[in-house]
Amino acid sequence: MWGRLPQKDPEPLLLPAAENWKNPEDVEKYAEECLELCVSPGWTMRWDRAVKRLGCCRLNEKVISFSRYFVEAYLEKDPELIRRTVLHELAHARAWEKYHERGHGAAWQRACAELGIAGERAACACEDFSPTRPGHERKARYALCHKETGEVYRYYYRKPRLNERRLRYSYMPGQKKETLGKLHIVNLQDNASIHE
Ligand SMILES: [Zn+2]
Repeated sequence: MWGRLPQKDPEPLLLPAAENWKNPEDVEKYAEECLELCVSPGWTMRWDRAVKRLGCCRLNEKVISFSRYFVEAYLEKDPELIRRTVLHELAHARAWEKYHERGHGAAWQRACAELGIAGERAACACEDFSPTRPGHERKARYALCHKETGEVYRYYYRKPRLNERRLRYSYMPGQKKETLGKLHIVNLQDNASIHE
């Protein structure tokens, strides 16, 4: 049975220190330590290749997942944004586990307060961090992505001729089960939302 939201103010949780991150593995370690302290065993941290959002929380799989591209791009520039993203997704995990609530409602906000990021917004605009491939100075404008994991399979400089209908019956070679009907084209120049 899931609990009801208590009336009294949330107590702050003890979190590991987030400092001196030198590489993505340090962020991975931080996320894993946070999971250990804030949710029950069984949750894991994973990397993905999303280019349009920073992190996501997959409740059914008990996974918090972060874009490796984003973490690499922001490690020096804005570690605080990475830290908040980790805690944002962790708050989803906690709100689900304790109150069986999805989304950015009262339980998620309470979890944010417990994690020390009270006032965290549901989403905010973020620059596109799709990687440029060496030798290709121009940034790709479109990407073929997995709808659920955000993984990128292909980049395009011009709008690909793949309409919805064709995409519905398309899949990546050798990954039919995982990708059939789950591919979509993302315009990398649209404003992205950083969290899900
Ligand atoms: Zn969220």
